[in-house]
Amino acid sequence: MLTISRCPVCDGQSFPPFLTCKDFTVSEESFPIVSCSDCGFLFTNPIPDLDVLGNYYKAESYVSHTSSSKGLINFLYQRVRKITLKRKLRLIQRIAKGNRILDFGCGTGHFLARLQAAKFDVTGVEPDADARAVAEKLNGIRPLQRHELSSLQPGFDVITLWHVLEHLPDLNKDISELIALLAPGGTLLVAVPNPTSGDAELYKEYWAGYDVPRHLYHFSPTVIKRLFEKHGMECSACLPMPFDAYYVSMLSEKHKGGGMLRGFFNGWKSNRRARKGGDKWSSQIYLFQKK
Ligand SMILES: [Zn+2]
Repeated sequence: MLTISRCPVCDGQSFPPFLTCKDFTVSEESFPIVSCSDCGFLFTNPIPDLDVLGNYYKAESYVSHTSSSKGLINFLYQRVRKITLKRKLRLIQRIAKGNRILDFGCGTGHFLARLQAAKFDVTGVEPDADARAVAEKLNGIRPLQRHELSSLQPGFDVITLWHVLEHLPDLNKDISELIALLAPGGTLLVAVPNPTSGDAELYKEYWAGYDVPRHLYHFSPTVIKRLFEKHGMECSACLPMPFDAYYVSMLSEKHKGGGMLRGFFNGWKSNRRARKGGDKWSSQIYLFQKK
């Protein structure tokens, strides 16, 4: 196991325990989540050694890397993806000052294919070889490997990380490298689960957004803004991902041994709470601007 001794956000060294969560998707092992006593950052600690971390991604039910439609949750995920892809495209059309887009952690390439069809100049990076193969076969997108990032020409208008930041062992290094690839005035779009959402507070250690040990970090709105400020980036908007409340609550309910309907209802309740304000959506999109 690998123990983190310095807080990746503030460099603090004192981390009282926050929760112990089980890996419900792959290993059934338990992992502690700690909370930095200086900045409140929540992170999984210790984590598996980096050479075995990849083993924790090997499960058919880990839907974001596959396109199988097995099971009700996966089925809904595929249907909802169609709607969310359209919304994501509209968002990019609204924020992009030019047409060069980089999707870091592009998975099977559905988002990039949608952008490409809308005449954007797209580049994808994906560390998982299986996902890269699917992206090429299904979507005609050829993602680069992680080490090829440094050979890219800078000047991207938008760089997107859809539920990716929480997976990066080398957090600060990856952020610096990505910011260097942005054009001046460019936008870094970061979507992450929100541990201060109503569904996170309801489900606690069963909350699917913790997804240990694959999710190394659990970013509250306050902490993620502080992290990017450290890198000279200013948060210009925080946007909701309302479908995630349903998906995450249904999955959390399954972890708890409860029924789908209750999960659906709790997702609806989480969104109703979030609509009142206070950055309480189950997952949120943050837009960071490069000066
Ligand atoms: Zn800290």
